[in-house]
Amino acid sequence: TPSASRPPVRWLREAEEMAAPLRIICYHPDGVVADRAMARAIARIHQLNAIFSDYDPTSEVRRLCETAGTGKKVQVSDDLWQLLTFSLKISEQTAGAFDVTIGPIVRLWRRARMSREMPPAYRFDEARQAVGYQFVRLYPEDRAVELLRPGMRLDFGAVAKGYAIDAALKVMRQEGVPSALIDLGGDLGLGESPPDRGHWSVAVAAMKPGEPPSYFVRRARCGIATSGDRYRFVVIGGKRYSHIVDPRTGVGLTDQSEVTVIAPNATLADALATAVSVLGPERGLAWVDTFPDAAALYLRLVGDHTEVHTSKQWKELSGETPDAQP
Ligand code: ADP
Ligand code: MG
Ligand code: MG
Repeated sequence: TPSASRPPVRWLREAEEMAAPLRIICYHPDGVVADRAMARAIARIHQLNAIFSDYDPTSEVRRLCETAGTGKKVQVSDDLWQLLTFSLKISEQTAGAFDVTIGPIVRLWRRARMSREMPPAYRFDEARQAVGYQFVRLYPEDRAVELLRPGMRLDFGAVAKGYAIDAALKVMRQEGVPSALIDLGGDLGLGESPPDRGHWSVAVAAMKPGEPPSYFVRRARCGIATSGDRYRFVVIGGKRYSHIVDPRTGVGLTDQSEVTVIAPNATLADALATAVSVLGPERGLAWVDTFPDAAALYLRLVGDHTEVHTSKQWKELSGETPDAQP
């Protein structure tokens, strides 16, 4: 029988991708179609990890970085080109508060997290020499890239999950399953809404660990990303440093904050959430307001109370209504 005559059924699949839990929920009458779509979406995310991973020395990004400072220009894949040019635009717009070349400094902090010791100042100076989005030269006619300074290291940690989510949603659509939700490590892509409702309903930020989330978003066709230091931080000398770094100082953020962004796609939401964390609530939220259909919620722990900041469109885009229940 044609699947159109049967009611859609909810399907769920869980996996682990990009070192994060992956969950796909979708609606379709035919389990075979849904299953194939989800398997192909997962395979696509896996493929993107092999391009963007910073942990895999054979990833395309890692191999590109090995040519830094050698004068070589390297032709790159379409995915790497797309996400690099997007990330460079965000780097320019934030004047480097977000910087896709932050890799050398992130690596220092990663080591600090293991040893719980502050790296010596000269290591920061060294690392900073190799950071700067203006040292990436693009050759659009060849889709090629040259990294001008020795030791440069691209870091897509702030955007790769969002990009993978968008790519996975696209696969679901192409496979005939447009009503889908992708959750990769807490960042979300929402496709067409479930058949029985006008929107997806998802829990987002909760400032205190172990507490139930206190914010919900009711939307379809958008991306949602959260940046915060709830899980990844290091305490040195009684001070807590986030895995998000302010490139101007080289230091991990010390505010305890959580930023959630809703945007037309997950790539943009992921980039904005990280960038706004660095820019802070005033400058960050004003910048989010310049994007059509984007909004942010900025929670900041001050002493033992949570400060709440929202951008202009947060209430409208999150679907928040006084009597709404999850
Ligand atoms: P999560 O890792 O939880 O998804 P984010 O999306 O905010 O959180 O990404 C954080 C990652 O972004 C860091 O682990 C690091 O790889 C990278 N990063 C840290 N600081 C910056 C920065 N100022 N600009 C761009 N990328 C950054
Ligand atoms: Mg992220
Ligand atoms: Mg991000």
